Amino acid sequence: NLDNLDKIVSLAKARGFIFQSSEIYGGLSAVYDYGPLGVELKRNIRDAWWKEMTRRHDNIVGVDAAIFMHPKVWEASGHVGGFNDPMIDDKQSKKRYRADMLIEQYIEKLRSDDKHEEANAIQEKLDTCGSRKSLTEDLYEIIMENEIRAPESGAFDWTEVRQFNLMFKTQFGATGSEDDGVYLRPETAQGIFVNYKNVLDTARVTVPFGIAQTGKAFRNEVVARQFVFRMREFEQMEMQYFVKPGTDEDEYEKWLEKRLEWHKFMGIREENLRTAPHPEDKLAHYARAAADIQYKYPIGWQEVEGIHNRTDFDLTQHQEFSGKKLDYYDQKNQERFTPYVIETSVGLDRLTLMVLCDAYREEEVDGDTRTVLKMNPKLAPTQVGIFPLIKKDKLQDLAHKIEKELLEEFSVLYDESGSIGKRYRRQDEAGTPFCITVDFDGVESEGEDTVTIRYRDDMSQDRVPVSRLSEVIRDGMKD
Ligand code: ATP
Repeated sequence: NLDNLDKIVSLAKARGFIFQSSEIYGGLSAVYDYGPLGVELKRNIRDAWWKEMTRRHDNIVGVDAAIFMHPKVWEASGHVGGFNDPMIDDKQSKKRYRADMLIEQYIEKLRSDDKHEEANAIQEKLDTCGSRKSLTEDLYEIIMENEIRAPESGAFDWTEVRQFNLMFKTQFGATGSEDDGVYLRPETAQGIFVNYKNVLDTARVTVPFGIAQTGKAFRNEVVARQFVFRMREFEQMEMQYFVKPGTDEDEYEKWLEKRLEWHKFMGIREENLRTAPHPEDKLAHYARAAADIQYKYPIGWQEVEGIHNRTDFDLTQHQEFSGKKLDYYDQKNQERFTPYVIETSVGLDRLTLMVLCDAYREEEVDGDTRTVLKMNPKLAPTQVGIFPLIKKDKLQDLAHKIEKELLEEFSVLYDESGSIGKRYRRQDEAGTPFCITVDFDGVESEGEDTVTIRYRDDMSQDRVPVSRLSEVIRDGMKD
Protein backbone atom coordinates (compact mmCIF):
# COMPACT_ATOMS: atom_id res chain seq x y z
CA ASN A 1 0.00 0.00 0.00
CA LEU A 2 3.01 2.33 -0.31
CA ASP A 3 3.39 4.22 -3.55
CA ASN A 4 6.50 6.15 -2.55
CA LEU A 5 9.14 6.18 0.15
CA ASP A 6 7.82 9.20 2.06
CA LYS A 7 6.11 7.28 4.85
CA ILE A 8 9.09 5.02 5.40
CA VAL A 9 11.45 8.00 5.43
CA SER A 10 9.38 9.83 8.05
CA LEU A 11 8.81 6.77 10.21
CA ALA A 12 12.53 5.97 10.01
CA LYS A 13 13.37 9.45 11.26
CA ALA A 14 10.61 9.75 13.85
CA ARG A 15 11.34 6.40 15.47
CA GLY A 16 15.12 6.50 15.20
CA PHE A 17 15.84 4.00 12.49
CA ILE A 18 17.62 6.18 9.94
CA PHE A 19 18.70 9.84 9.91
CA GLN A 20 20.29 11.94 7.23
CA SER A 21 24.03 12.26 7.79
CA SER A 22 25.17 15.55 9.40
CA GLU A 23 21.55 16.65 9.51
CA ILE A 24 22.19 19.69 11.75
CA TYR A 25 24.37 21.03 8.94
CA GLY A 26 21.74 20.49 6.31
CA GLY A 27 22.69 16.90 5.55
CA LEU A 28 25.12 15.27 3.16
CA SER A 29 23.61 13.96 -0.03
CA ALA A 30 23.05 10.19 -0.26
CA VAL A 31 24.76 9.52 3.08
CA TYR A 32 22.76 8.24 6.06
CA ASP A 33 23.22 7.39 9.74
CA TYR A 34 21.46 4.61 11.58
CA GLY A 35 19.80 5.49 14.89
CA PRO A 36 19.17 3.33 17.95
CA LEU A 37 16.50 1.15 16.33
CA GLY A 38 18.14 1.13 12.90
CA VAL A 39 21.48 -0.07 14.19
CA GLU A 40 19.82 -3.03 15.91
CA LEU A 41 17.74 -3.91 12.86
CA LYS A 42 20.75 -3.70 10.57
CA ARG A 43 22.86 -5.78 12.95
CA ASN A 44 20.16 -8.46 13.16
CA ILE A 45 19.94 -8.66 9.38
CA ARG A 46 23.72 -8.84 9.09
CA ASP A 47 23.87 -11.59 11.74
CA ALA A 48 21.11 -13.55 10.00
CA TRP A 49 23.03 -13.38 6.72
CA TRP A 50 26.29 -14.39 8.39
CA LYS A 51 24.62 -17.33 10.07
CA GLU A 52 23.03 -18.43 6.82
CA MET A 53 26.20 -18.16 4.75
CA THR A 54 28.89 -19.38 7.14
CA ARG A 55 27.38 -21.45 9.93
CA ARG A 56 24.88 -23.25 7.73
CA HIS A 57 27.60 -24.10 5.19
CA ASP A 58 30.63 -25.98 6.50
CA ASN A 59 32.62 -25.04 3.40
CA ILE A 60 32.19 -21.26 3.65
CA VAL A 61 34.54 -19.20 5.80
CA GLY A 62 34.69 -15.49 6.53
CA VAL A 63 37.21 -12.68 6.17
CA ASP A 64 37.21 -9.02 7.10
CA ALA A 65 39.45 -7.20 4.65
CA ALA A 66 40.47 -3.55 4.88
CA ILE A 67 38.67 -0.80 2.98
CA PHE A 68 42.00 0.52 1.65
CA MET A 69 43.58 -1.73 -0.90
CA HIS A 70 46.64 -1.60 -3.12
CA PRO A 71 45.91 0.67 -6.13
CA LYS A 72 46.82 -2.15 -8.50
CA VAL A 73 43.78 -4.09 -7.25
CA TRP A 74 41.47 -1.67 -9.05
CA GLU A 75 43.46 -1.87 -12.25
CA ALA A 76 43.27 -5.65 -12.16
CA SER A 77 39.58 -5.66 -11.33
CA GLY A 78 38.73 -3.36 -14.22
CA HIS A 79 37.34 -0.60 -12.02
CA VAL A 80 39.93 2.01 -12.99
CA GLY A 81 39.08 1.49 -16.63
CA GLY A 82 35.37 1.19 -16.54
CA PHE A 83 33.36 1.99 -13.44
CA ASN A 84 31.78 5.19 -14.25
CA ASP A 85 29.68 8.42 -14.36
CA PRO A 86 27.27 9.05 -17.24
CA MET A 87 28.73 11.69 -19.56
CA ILE A 88 27.46 13.00 -22.87
CA ASP A 89 29.33 14.95 -25.55
CA ASP A 90 28.05 17.83 -27.64
CA LYS A 91 29.33 16.90 -31.08
CA GLN A 92 29.47 20.54 -32.20
CA SER A 93 31.42 22.18 -29.38
CA LYS A 94 33.13 18.88 -28.44
CA LYS A 95 32.30 19.72 -24.85
CA ARG A 96 31.51 16.97 -22.35
CA TYR A 97 28.66 17.20 -19.80
CA ARG A 98 27.38 15.02 -17.02
CA ALA A 99 24.09 13.80 -18.42
CA ASP A 100 22.19 14.00 -15.13
CA MET A 101 23.45 17.55 -14.44
CA LEU A 102 22.28 18.65 -17.84
CA ILE A 103 18.81 17.39 -17.02
CA GLU A 104 18.89 19.04 -13.58
CA GLN A 105 19.78 22.37 -15.16
CA TYR A 106 16.97 22.00 -17.61
CA ILE A 107 14.53 21.30 -14.77
CA GLU A 108 15.74 24.40 -12.94
CA LYS A 109 15.22 26.48 -16.05
CA LEU A 110 11.66 25.16 -16.38
CA ARG A 111 10.98 26.07 -12.77
CA SER A 112 12.26 29.59 -13.18
CA ASP A 113 9.94 29.89 -16.18
CA ASP A 114 7.08 28.75 -13.89
CA LYS A 115 6.61 25.53 -15.83
CA HIS A 116 6.34 23.48 -12.66
CA GLU A 117 4.25 20.62 -13.93
CA GLU A 118 6.63 19.88 -16.74
CA ALA A 119 9.58 20.24 -14.36
CA ASN A 120 8.04 17.83 -11.86
CA ALA A 121 7.35 15.24 -14.52
CA ILE A 122 10.96 15.27 -15.67
CA GLN A 123 12.24 15.31 -12.10
CA GLU A 124 10.19 12.24 -11.33
CA LYS A 125 11.61 10.47 -14.32
CA LEU A 126 15.12 11.41 -13.29
CA ASP A 127 14.55 10.18 -9.74
CA THR A 128 13.37 6.81 -10.92
CA CYS A 129 16.12 6.29 -13.45
CA GLY A 130 17.07 2.65 -13.50
CA SER A 131 19.98 0.71 -12.18
CA ARG A 132 23.50 1.27 -13.39
CA LYS A 133 22.82 -1.10 -16.24
CA SER A 134 20.08 1.01 -17.77
CA LEU A 135 21.09 4.41 -16.38
CA THR A 136 22.85 5.61 -19.51
CA GLU A 137 19.89 4.74 -21.69
CA ASP A 138 17.36 6.26 -19.30
CA LEU A 139 19.26 9.55 -19.15
CA TYR A 140 19.72 9.61 -22.91
CA GLU A 141 16.02 9.12 -23.37
CA ILE A 142 15.15 12.07 -21.11
CA ILE A 143 17.58 14.31 -22.99
CA MET A 144 16.17 13.27 -26.35
CA GLU A 145 12.51 13.41 -25.34
CA ASN A 146 12.84 16.93 -24.02
CA GLU A 147 15.18 18.08 -26.73
CA ILE A 148 17.62 19.39 -24.17
CA ARG A 149 20.25 21.50 -25.89
CA ALA A 150 23.94 21.95 -25.10
CA PRO A 151 24.29 24.96 -22.77
CA GLU A 152 27.16 26.56 -24.66
CA SER A 153 26.62 25.86 -28.34
CA GLY A 154 22.83 25.61 -28.12
CA ALA A 155 23.11 22.59 -30.39
CA PHE A 156 21.01 19.45 -30.19
CA ASP A 157 23.61 17.09 -31.52
CA TRP A 158 24.57 14.61 -28.84
CA THR A 159 26.64 11.48 -28.65
CA GLU A 160 25.35 8.57 -26.60
CA VAL A 161 25.65 8.69 -22.81
CA ARG A 162 28.82 6.98 -21.61
CA GLN A 163 30.15 6.17 -18.17
CA PHE A 164 33.06 7.77 -16.23
CA ASN A 165 34.66 6.81 -12.91
CA LEU A 166 32.60 6.38 -9.73
CA MET A 167 35.39 5.62 -7.27
CA PHE A 168 36.36 7.98 -4.47
CA LYS A 169 40.06 8.72 -4.40
CA THR A 170 41.98 9.84 -1.35
CA GLN A 171 45.58 10.45 -0.21
CA PHE A 172 47.57 7.81 1.51
CA GLY A 173 50.70 8.42 3.60
CA ALA A 174 52.41 11.66 4.49
CA THR A 175 53.51 13.20 1.23
CA GLY A 176 50.12 13.44 -0.40
CA SER A 177 51.58 13.10 -3.85
CA GLU A 178 49.64 11.70 -6.79
CA ASP A 179 51.51 8.39 -6.35
CA ASP A 180 49.99 7.99 -2.89
CA GLY A 181 46.44 7.99 -4.23
CA VAL A 182 44.27 5.15 -3.05
CA TYR A 183 40.62 4.45 -3.64
CA LEU A 184 37.90 3.74 -1.14
CA ARG A 185 36.77 0.28 -2.24
CA PRO A 186 33.65 0.37 -4.44
CA GLU A 187 32.87 -3.27 -3.60
CA THR A 188 34.01 -5.75 -0.98
CA ALA A 189 34.57 -8.60 -3.44
CA GLN A 190 38.18 -7.70 -4.25
CA GLY A 191 39.15 -8.10 -0.59
CA ILE A 192 38.09 -11.70 -0.97
CA PHE A 193 39.97 -12.34 -4.22
CA VAL A 194 43.25 -10.96 -2.90
CA ASN A 195 42.92 -13.24 0.13
CA TYR A 196 42.01 -16.32 -1.89
CA LYS A 197 45.47 -17.84 -1.50
CA ASN A 198 45.75 -16.95 2.19
CA VAL A 199 42.48 -18.70 2.89
CA LEU A 200 43.41 -21.70 0.75
CA ASP A 201 46.71 -22.04 2.61
CA THR A 202 45.26 -21.72 6.09
CA ALA A 203 41.64 -22.80 6.26
CA ARG A 204 41.83 -26.43 5.03
CA VAL A 205 39.18 -25.82 2.40
CA THR A 206 38.83 -27.64 -0.89
CA VAL A 207 36.97 -26.61 -4.02
CA PRO A 208 34.07 -25.96 -3.95
CA PHE A 209 34.36 -23.53 -1.08
CA GLY A 210 33.24 -20.00 -0.31
CA ILE A 211 34.53 -16.86 1.39
CA ALA A 212 32.05 -14.43 2.90
CA GLN A 213 32.52 -10.84 3.97
CA THR A 214 30.46 -7.88 5.09
CA GLY A 215 31.68 -4.30 5.01
CA LYS A 216 31.46 -0.76 3.76
CA ALA A 217 31.75 0.17 0.09
CA PHE A 218 31.81 3.62 -1.51
CA ARG A 219 30.53 4.86 -4.84
CA ASN A 220 30.13 8.39 -6.05
CA GLU A 221 26.63 7.65 -7.34
CA VAL A 222 25.05 9.97 -9.86
CA VAL A 223 21.37 9.46 -9.29
CA ALA A 224 21.31 9.23 -5.51
CA ARG A 225 17.95 10.42 -4.32
CA GLN A 226 16.28 7.23 -3.24
CA PHE A 227 16.90 7.20 0.51
CA VAL A 228 19.08 4.23 1.53
CA PHE A 229 18.37 2.47 -1.75
CA ARG A 230 21.24 4.26 -3.45
CA MET A 231 23.89 5.70 -1.18
CA ARG A 232 27.42 6.97 -1.61
CA GLU A 233 28.58 5.03 1.45
CA PHE A 234 26.86 1.70 1.98
CA GLU A 235 27.42 -1.79 3.27
CA GLN A 236 27.71 -4.93 1.21
CA MET A 237 27.49 -8.57 2.19
CA GLU A 238 29.22 -10.71 -0.39
CA MET A 239 30.15 -14.33 -0.80
CA GLN A 240 32.47 -15.65 -3.46
CA TYR A 241 32.07 -19.37 -4.14
CA PHE A 242 35.06 -21.00 -5.83
CA VAL A 243 34.09 -23.89 -8.06
CA LYS A 244 35.57 -26.20 -10.65
CA PRO A 245 35.09 -24.88 -14.21
CA GLY A 246 32.29 -26.80 -15.83
CA THR A 247 30.27 -26.94 -12.61
CA ASP A 248 29.80 -23.16 -12.62
CA GLU A 249 26.48 -23.09 -14.44
CA ASP A 250 24.88 -25.51 -12.00
CA GLU A 251 26.33 -23.72 -9.00
CA TYR A 252 25.08 -20.40 -10.34
CA GLU A 253 21.52 -21.74 -10.64
CA LYS A 254 21.77 -23.29 -7.20
CA TRP A 255 22.89 -20.06 -5.53
CA LEU A 256 20.29 -17.97 -7.30
CA GLU A 257 17.60 -20.31 -6.00
CA LYS A 258 19.10 -20.50 -2.51
CA ARG A 259 19.40 -16.76 -2.13
CA LEU A 260 15.83 -16.15 -3.30
CA GLU A 261 14.60 -18.72 -0.78
CA TRP A 262 16.53 -17.00 1.99
CA HIS A 263 14.69 -13.72 1.44
CA LYS A 264 11.40 -15.58 1.73
CA PHE A 265 12.63 -17.45 4.77
CA MET A 266 13.40 -14.09 6.39
CA GLY A 267 9.72 -13.27 6.04
CA ILE A 268 9.63 -11.10 2.92
CA ARG A 269 6.33 -11.62 1.10
CA GLU A 270 6.76 -13.92 -1.84
CA GLU A 271 4.70 -11.80 -4.22
CA ASN A 272 7.13 -8.92 -3.69
CA LEU A 273 10.18 -10.90 -4.77
CA ARG A 274 11.33 -12.07 -8.18
CA THR A 275 14.49 -12.92 -10.07
CA ALA A 276 15.49 -11.12 -13.24
CA PRO A 277 18.30 -12.47 -15.41
CA HIS A 278 20.46 -9.86 -17.14
CA PRO A 279 20.22 -10.04 -20.90
CA GLU A 280 23.54 -11.03 -22.42
CA ASP A 281 24.27 -7.61 -23.91
CA LYS A 282 23.94 -5.98 -20.47
CA LEU A 283 26.38 -8.26 -18.66
CA ALA A 284 29.27 -6.64 -16.79
CA HIS A 285 32.72 -7.17 -18.29
CA TYR A 286 33.56 -9.96 -15.83
CA ALA A 287 30.32 -11.93 -15.98
CA ARG A 288 29.19 -14.94 -17.94
CA ALA A 289 25.72 -14.92 -16.40
CA ALA A 290 24.05 -12.63 -13.91
CA ALA A 291 20.66 -12.16 -12.33
CA ASP A 292 19.12 -9.71 -9.91
CA ILE A 293 16.94 -10.71 -7.05
CA GLN A 294 14.45 -7.88 -7.13
CA TYR A 295 12.03 -6.53 -4.57
CA LYS A 296 8.93 -4.53 -5.33
CA TYR A 297 10.00 -1.34 -3.54
CA PRO A 298 7.60 1.62 -3.44
CA ILE A 299 9.85 3.02 -6.23
CA GLY A 300 9.22 -0.07 -8.37
CA TRP A 301 10.90 -3.44 -8.91
CA GLN A 302 14.57 -2.94 -8.07
CA GLU A 303 17.65 -5.03 -7.40
CA VAL A 304 18.33 -5.98 -3.81
CA GLU A 305 20.87 -8.69 -4.55
CA GLY A 306 22.98 -9.76 -7.50
CA ILE A 307 24.11 -13.29 -8.35
CA HIS A 308 26.98 -13.43 -10.83
CA ASN A 309 29.00 -16.07 -12.58
CA ARG A 310 32.34 -14.21 -12.66
CA THR A 311 34.22 -17.09 -14.31
CA ASP A 312 37.96 -17.08 -13.62
CA PHE A 313 38.15 -13.41 -14.57
CA ASP A 314 39.19 -12.07 -11.15
CA LEU A 315 41.73 -14.73 -10.18
CA THR A 316 43.28 -14.61 -13.64
CA GLN A 317 43.53 -10.83 -13.54
CA HIS A 318 45.04 -10.78 -10.05
CA GLN A 319 47.46 -13.50 -11.01
CA GLU A 320 48.58 -11.46 -13.97
CA PHE A 321 48.84 -8.15 -12.10
CA SER A 322 50.44 -9.54 -8.93
CA GLY A 323 52.62 -12.19 -10.53
CA LYS A 324 51.48 -14.66 -7.83
CA LYS A 325 50.03 -18.02 -8.76
CA LEU A 326 46.34 -18.11 -7.94
CA ASP A 327 45.26 -21.47 -9.24
CA TYR A 328 44.19 -24.64 -7.47
CA TYR A 329 45.57 -28.13 -7.28
CA ASP A 330 42.94 -30.81 -6.95
CA GLN A 331 44.70 -33.59 -4.97
CA LYS A 332 42.07 -36.21 -5.56
CA ASN A 333 41.95 -35.94 -9.33
CA GLN A 334 45.51 -34.67 -9.63
CA GLU A 335 44.63 -31.75 -11.80
CA ARG A 336 45.35 -28.07 -11.75
CA PHE A 337 42.84 -25.34 -12.65
CA THR A 338 41.82 -21.78 -11.90
CA PRO A 339 38.47 -21.89 -10.10
CA TYR A 340 35.43 -20.12 -11.42
CA VAL A 341 33.60 -17.82 -9.04
CA ILE A 342 29.90 -17.61 -8.31
CA GLU A 343 29.20 -14.41 -6.41
CA THR A 344 26.24 -13.50 -4.26
CA SER A 345 26.23 -9.80 -3.47
CA VAL A 346 23.59 -8.07 -1.42
CA GLY A 347 23.37 -4.50 -0.07
CA LEU A 348 22.68 -4.40 3.66
CA ASP A 349 21.03 -1.00 3.45
CA ARG A 350 18.80 -2.10 0.58
CA LEU A 351 17.89 -5.17 2.61
CA THR A 352 17.07 -3.01 5.61
CA LEU A 353 14.89 -0.80 3.44
CA MET A 354 13.20 -3.89 2.01
CA VAL A 355 12.44 -5.23 5.49
CA LEU A 356 10.97 -1.86 6.52
CA CYS A 357 8.86 -1.53 3.36
CA ASP A 358 7.60 -5.09 3.51
CA ALA A 359 6.72 -4.84 7.20
CA TYR A 360 4.93 -1.49 6.99
CA ARG A 361 1.15 -1.60 7.54
CA GLU A 362 -1.54 0.89 8.34
CA GLU A 363 -4.54 -0.73 9.96
CA GLU A 364 -7.90 0.57 11.08
CA VAL A 365 -8.37 -0.13 14.78
CA ASP A 366 -11.49 1.19 16.53
CA GLY A 367 -11.77 4.08 14.12
CA ASP A 368 -8.09 4.93 14.48
CA THR A 369 -5.14 4.15 12.26
CA ARG A 370 -2.44 1.99 13.74
CA THR A 371 0.95 1.99 12.04
CA VAL A 372 2.75 -1.26 12.61
CA LEU A 373 5.91 -2.93 11.33
CA LYS A 374 5.12 -6.62 10.96
CA MET A 375 8.64 -7.88 10.54
CA ASN A 376 10.23 -11.20 11.37
CA PRO A 377 10.50 -11.21 15.22
CA LYS A 378 14.14 -12.25 14.97
CA LEU A 379 15.00 -9.08 13.08
CA ALA A 380 13.03 -6.70 15.29
CA PRO A 381 15.25 -4.09 16.97
CA THR A 382 13.37 -4.58 20.22
CA GLN A 383 11.93 -8.03 20.74
CA VAL A 384 10.18 -7.53 24.04
CA GLY A 385 8.65 -4.40 25.54
CA ILE A 386 8.15 -4.58 29.31
CA PHE A 387 5.68 -2.24 30.94
CA PRO A 388 4.49 -1.81 34.52
CA LEU A 389 0.85 -0.77 34.13
CA ILE A 390 1.36 2.20 36.45
CA LYS A 391 4.30 3.59 38.38
CA LYS A 392 3.91 1.61 41.60
CA ASP A 393 6.83 -0.14 43.35
CA LYS A 394 5.29 -3.54 43.26
CA LEU A 395 4.72 -3.44 39.50
CA GLN A 396 7.99 -1.71 38.69
CA ASP A 397 9.98 -4.22 40.73
CA LEU A 398 8.50 -7.22 38.99
CA ALA A 399 8.87 -5.55 35.59
CA HIS A 400 12.57 -4.91 36.26
CA LYS A 401 13.00 -8.46 37.45
CA ILE A 402 11.50 -9.77 34.21
CA GLU A 403 13.65 -7.37 32.22
CA LYS A 404 16.76 -8.73 33.91
CA GLU A 405 15.78 -12.30 33.22
CA LEU A 406 14.95 -11.80 29.56
CA LEU A 407 17.75 -9.50 28.49
CA GLU A 408 20.35 -12.25 28.24
CA GLU A 409 18.36 -13.92 25.50
CA PHE A 410 16.26 -11.19 23.86
CA SER A 411 16.59 -7.50 23.19
CA VAL A 412 14.24 -5.89 25.68
CA LEU A 413 13.02 -2.42 26.46
CA TYR A 414 11.57 -1.22 29.76
CA ASP A 415 9.06 1.59 29.39
CA GLU A 416 6.85 3.13 32.06
CA SER A 417 5.93 6.44 30.45
CA GLY A 418 2.51 7.31 29.07
CA SER A 419 -0.67 5.29 28.86
CA ILE A 420 -0.48 1.59 28.02
CA GLY A 421 -2.20 2.28 24.69
CA LYS A 422 0.50 4.81 23.77
CA ARG A 423 3.26 2.42 24.78
CA TYR A 424 1.78 -0.32 22.58
CA ARG A 425 1.55 2.10 19.65
CA ARG A 426 5.18 3.11 20.05
CA GLN A 427 6.26 -0.51 20.01
CA ASP A 428 4.01 -1.28 17.02
CA GLU A 429 5.86 1.42 15.07
CA ALA A 430 9.19 -0.06 16.16
CA GLY A 431 8.11 -3.55 15.09
CA THR A 432 8.33 -5.03 18.61
CA PRO A 433 6.63 -8.44 18.40
CA PHE A 434 5.89 -8.97 22.12
CA CYS A 435 4.86 -6.59 24.89
CA ILE A 436 4.57 -7.66 28.51
CA THR A 437 2.40 -5.73 30.92
CA VAL A 438 2.67 -6.16 34.67
CA ASP A 439 -0.59 -5.35 36.45
CA PHE A 440 -2.09 -5.79 39.93
CA ASP A 441 -4.29 -8.71 38.88
CA GLY A 442 -1.16 -10.65 38.11
CA VAL A 443 0.84 -9.93 41.25
CA GLU A 444 -1.96 -9.99 43.83
CA SER A 445 -3.82 -13.10 42.87
CA GLU A 446 -3.22 -16.44 44.57
CA GLY A 447 -0.24 -18.54 43.47
CA GLU A 448 2.42 -17.61 40.95
CA ASP A 449 2.76 -14.11 39.50
CA THR A 450 1.33 -13.70 36.02
CA VAL A 451 1.59 -10.99 33.35
CA THR A 452 -0.16 -10.29 30.09
CA ILE A 453 1.70 -10.75 26.86
CA ARG A 454 0.39 -8.83 23.89
CA TYR A 455 1.16 -9.91 20.33
CA ARG A 456 2.01 -7.23 17.78
CA ASP A 457 0.44 -8.79 14.71
CA ASP A 458 -3.12 -9.47 15.87
CA MET A 459 -3.01 -7.50 19.15
CA SER A 460 -4.29 -10.54 21.02
CA GLN A 461 -3.34 -10.94 24.66
CA ASP A 462 -2.60 -13.93 26.88
CA ARG A 463 -2.07 -14.21 30.59
CA VAL A 464 1.17 -16.10 31.25
CA PRO A 465 2.96 -17.16 34.45
CA VAL A 466 6.24 -15.27 34.78
CA SER A 467 8.23 -18.51 34.86
CA ARG A 468 6.99 -19.45 31.38
CA LEU A 469 7.74 -16.13 29.70
CA SER A 470 11.00 -16.96 27.98
CA GLU A 471 9.57 -20.21 26.66
CA VAL A 472 6.51 -18.45 25.23
CA ILE A 473 8.65 -15.78 23.57
CA ARG A 474 11.12 -18.34 22.22
CA ASP A 475 8.19 -20.22 20.69
CA GLY A 476 6.90 -17.05 19.07
CA MET A 477 10.29 -16.46 17.44
CA LYS A 478 10.55 -19.88 15.80
CA ASP A 479 10.74 -19.95 12.00
P1 ATP B 1 22.53 -0.96 -9.39
O1 ATP B 1 22.49 -1.54 -10.78
O2 ATP B 1 21.21 -0.93 -8.68
O3 ATP B 1 23.30 0.28 -9.30
P2 ATP B 1 24.73 -2.66 -9.15
O4 ATP B 1 24.38 -3.67 -10.18
O5 ATP B 1 25.71 -1.64 -9.43
O6 ATP B 1 23.39 -2.00 -8.57
P3 ATP B 1 26.35 -4.42 -7.65
O7 ATP B 1 27.60 -3.76 -8.09
O8 ATP B 1 26.01 -5.74 -8.20
O9 ATP B 1 25.13 -3.41 -7.83
O10 ATP B 1 26.34 -4.46 -6.06
C1 ATP B 1 25.74 -5.50 -5.35
C2 ATP B 1 24.71 -5.00 -4.39
O11 ATP B 1 25.19 -3.90 -3.64
C3 ATP B 1 23.44 -4.47 -5.04
O12 ATP B 1 22.54 -5.53 -5.28
C4 ATP B 1 22.90 -3.53 -4.00
O13 ATP B 1 22.12 -4.22 -3.03
C5 ATP B 1 24.14 -3.01 -3.34
N1 ATP B 1 24.44 -1.65 -3.81
C6 ATP B 1 25.10 -1.32 -4.93
N2 ATP B 1 25.21 0.01 -5.03
C7 ATP B 1 24.59 0.53 -3.94
C8 ATP B 1 24.36 1.86 -3.47
N3 ATP B 1 24.82 2.92 -4.13
N4 ATP B 1 23.67 2.02 -2.32
C9 ATP B 1 23.21 0.95 -1.63
N5 ATP B 1 23.40 -0.31 -2.02
C10 ATP B 1 24.09 -0.53 -3.16
